[in-house]
This record gives sequence, C-alpha cells and structure tokens, in this order.
Amino acid sequence: MSLQEKIARLVRPEIQVMSAYHVPPAQGMIKLDAMENPWPWPQELRAAWLEALRGVELNRYPDPSAHELQAELRAVMAVPPAAGVMLGNGSDELIQMIIQTVAMPGRVIMAPEPTFVMYRQIATVAGLDFAGVPLDGQFALDRPSTLDALENMQPAVIFLAYPNNPTGNLFDTAVIREILQRASGLVVVDEAYAPFTDASFMPELERYDNLLVLRTVSKLGLAGLRLGLLAGRPEWIGQIDKTRLPYNIGTLNQVTGRLALRHKAMFDAQARQIRAARAELDAGLRRLDRLVVYPSEANFILFRAPAGRAGEIFAALQQAGILIKNLDGTVPALRDCLRVTVGQPDENAAFLAALGDLI
Ligand code: PMP
Repeated sequence: MSLQEKIARLVRPEIQVMSAYHVPPAQGMIKLDAMENPWPWPQELRAAWLEALRGVELNRYPDPSAHELQAELRAVMAVPPAAGVMLGNGSDELIQMIIQTVAMPGRVIMAPEPTFVMYRQIATVAGLDFAGVPLDGQFALDRPSTLDALENMQPAVIFLAYPNNPTGNLFDTAVIREILQRASGLVVVDEAYAPFTDASFMPELERYDNLLVLRTVSKLGLAGLRLGLLAGRPEWIGQIDKTRLPYNIGTLNQVTGRLALRHKAMFDAQARQIRAARAELDAGLRRLDRLVVYPSEANFILFRAPAGRAGEIFAALQQAGILIKNLDGTVPALRDCLRVTVGQPDENAAFLAALGDLI
C-alpha cells in the first residue's frame, strides 16, 4: 500500500479535506495582518523581564493552575468575585477545552458567520456538527434566523465574538441577551478585542448561569505569550478544567505574564493610541471613496474593494512590502473584502498611501 493510500485509509475524512491554519511569511514587511499590538517593549521593560527570568527553576514543573497569574488577571480583567476562572495557552486552547467538554455524537456548535474560523475548525476536529448562521448585510446578528436556529438545533455551545472578527462590529446587546435567555446550551462571549472597546459582558456573569466570557492578552500586546482566560460560574469552570492538560501554562509564561501585568498602564496607553489610530485609519479609508468601510470596535478594519479587485490589491500591497489579510474567496459574504490591522501611525500612513495609489 502506498503512503498516500495509508493516509487516505487512516486519517479521518473531515481532517483530510481541512487545510492547516496558514500564516504567510512576513519577514521585513509592514505587518498589518494579524491584529497584533505594533509597539515593541521599551528597553527598561525588556531588562526587567530578563532579570525576572533569571530566578526561574526550569527543572521543576510549573504551578499547575498558575494561581498568582490567575489572581492578577482576574483583577486587570475585572472578573466578578463570584466567578470562576481558568487559563489557556491562548484563548484558542480554551475554545478547544469548552468544545471537548461537550463533545458527543449529534452535538452542535453554533456561531454567526462570518466569524473567527477556529470555532468551526475546532468543532470539526472534535467530530461535532457546526452550524453557521449568516449575519445580515451589515454583519449584524440576524435576530429571527439566529433565534430559529437556536430553537431548531439546540446547540451545545454558541460562540459570539464581541467585537466580531473579521467584521470588527459589536453585536446588538439586546439580541445577545435574548440568546442568553433562550439558549439551552452555553453561550460563550469571546472578548478577544476587549482592549479596544468599552463594551463587555463580564459584569453579566452574575446574571446568566449559561454565560462564559473569554479573554486573551494577545491583542493587548502579548500575542507571543499565548495566554487566555475563561470566566464563568465555578460549576462550569470546574467541569471544563477537567479537559485541561496538566501544566498548560509554562513557568516562562507565568513569570512573563506577571511581569507584563505590572506594566498594565503601558499596555492600556498603547490600546488608547491604537483606538485613536483606528479613527484616523477609518477616516483615511473613507476618503478613498471607492471602498465600503465597516465600522470597527476592534484593532482592525474590514473594507470592501471595488468588485473583483481584492486579490490584485492584496498582491500589489504585498509587493510594496505591506501585509494585510485577503478575505476574498473565503466565504461569499466576504467577497472583495480585505482586513487591515491598525499599526503604528507611520505604518498606517504607508498603507493608506499605497492603497490610494492602487485604486
Ligand atoms: N477569538 C477571536 C475572536 C480571535 O480573533 C482570536 C485571534 N485572532 C482568538 C480568539 C484567539 O486568540 P489567542 O489564541 O491569541 O488568545
């Protein structure tokens, strides 16, 4: 039997047709594709960090539930005192643990689409059905079809990215509340972009026993660290925590995360700068009046290029050393769409100038 035949026989069909998460090379480019914080750490912080690492004993296993880091994250993320929390190796890992906790044949995972692709991907890998409910033309929740889908499919979990990726908008709070009231399963409000909006469901944890709130430190400025937090009723967290691999947050991550959180004020100031730069980038895109620009509460902006031109614009920007994200060809709702992450002011200006020359 050839290797190809062995693979075809052994690998699950749904895995065979999947593609791995693709990250394009970005060496030497203006990198505006991945919702990272564009500011590197100042020298003093780097020095303090390296000093903190000196004391680490790598021959020992880490604190298994990273107690101190957990307590510090609770404080900076304003988790209600009665809520339970657990940490993940990025919020991706927490999404995986939530899904594994409920994974059984016949179970459905739901999310409005287009949204963060990992909800579908992780549900598929776990062998579950995924139901994507289309957002409306402005990427808002389609209330009747979402409530119908909830009723008909009784999803074990519904994921709501708030603000949503890749569209950047916040969903209507009243519709989310209705979903929380009607859902028989868990409702995960994924607040990955919390640093760039004032809206949050964190305070609502006290009100709804089926709500989980997901956070990450990635967009704040620690994407390289891989650290996410899940908050919810301690009874739910206790169950989900059983799916966590021991020591999922390494000692280096715990020490680095704690050191970084002591400089939360710096990251908050950067988030404010990013919000101001987002307004300028938005205005700049709107001045190029051949684009449709979608309002954003996150650190990126989705825009629609003139029909049929997204691929060519993406490639020309890439040629000019500027990497953004091309969403054309992913799902029909994102036809002609491109997504740009808010960078440093000079990076945003370079992007706008290059784009202006192209259209
Ligand atoms: N949720 C949403 C909505 C996202 O856009 C992302 C990353 N793009 C994540 C979760 C995952 O973030 P991380 O694993 O870096 O915490």
